[in-house]
Amino acid sequence: MCDRIFLVLLGVPGAGKGTQAKLLEKQFQLPQISTGDIFRYNLKNETDLGKLAKSFMDKGELVPDSVTIEMVKDRLSQSDCANGAIMDGFPRNLVQASAFDEIIDRHGGIDLVPLIALEDDEAMRRITGRRVCRSCGAVYHVDFSPPKQEGVCDIDGGELYQRDDDKPETVRNRLYVYYKQTSPLIGYYYAKGLLAELDGSQEIGQVNVTLLSLLAEKGVIIE
Ligand code: ADP
Ligand code: AMP
Ligand code: ZN
Repeated sequence: MCDRIFLVLLGVPGAGKGTQAKLLEKQFQLPQISTGDIFRYNLKNETDLGKLAKSFMDKGELVPDSVTIEMVKDRLSQSDCANGAIMDGFPRNLVQASAFDEIIDRHGGIDLVPLIALEDDEAMRRITGRRVCRSCGAVYHVDFSPPKQEGVCDIDGGELYQRDDDKPETVRNRLYVYYKQTSPLIGYYYAKGLLAELDGSQEIGQVNVTLLSLLAEKGVIIE
């Protein structure tokens, strides 16, 4: 395995980035950095950052770049990122992507950008059925990945809730924002030779297997 591994997971909202990032986190002992999770943590704790982010998140818009980039810089400076990280939901536009290049160039740059490909209709089904644990953040799906007991987290018994921005009206705008602002990153990373697309429509375990073999094929990990 390389000394440091930085992965950027790309894909429409609901593609399975968080689900796969959590699996990789365990498999490689690398932190998942989900900017959405960090914003939600701040929202729950009613910090200034949380209050600022809320108005954007409620509409499915991106939180301003300056705020988001500073937040990521701060997160990456923490000691658990010394061996790399799995980026989930960042960068999300070209400004963030070039800022991220600058931040991690000194760490050897990005190793690979797996693009988890999924049709919009399927993404919509996944998002509207997503449930999240209020205490540990574990992610479930009412049909595809249900907890043992409805509404209760398998890991810590926490209450499962539906994110406010997972309602269909907001999801449509999040998909629009993805195509307008985030999808240009596909070309950006392709041009750098970092893009690797995989089929996200298979079941969770199978997507993980495909992702691991892609990482091995590209020399990011040694199997
Ligand atoms: P993202 O982080 O890309 O927005 P998530 O990882 O949160 O997506 O997944 C969205 C929803 O779809 C969750 O409810 C999750 O349990 C479910 N899910 C994730 N991957 C799959 C899959 N391969 N097959 C079926 N459901 C999935
Ligand atoms: P996610 O958890 O990735 O679905 O993100 C939820 C929401 O958090 C998004 O709709 C945005 O409002 C905000 N957000 C997450 N990541 C970013 C980012 N990199 N830049 C701007 N806003 C973000
Ligand atoms: Zn939990």
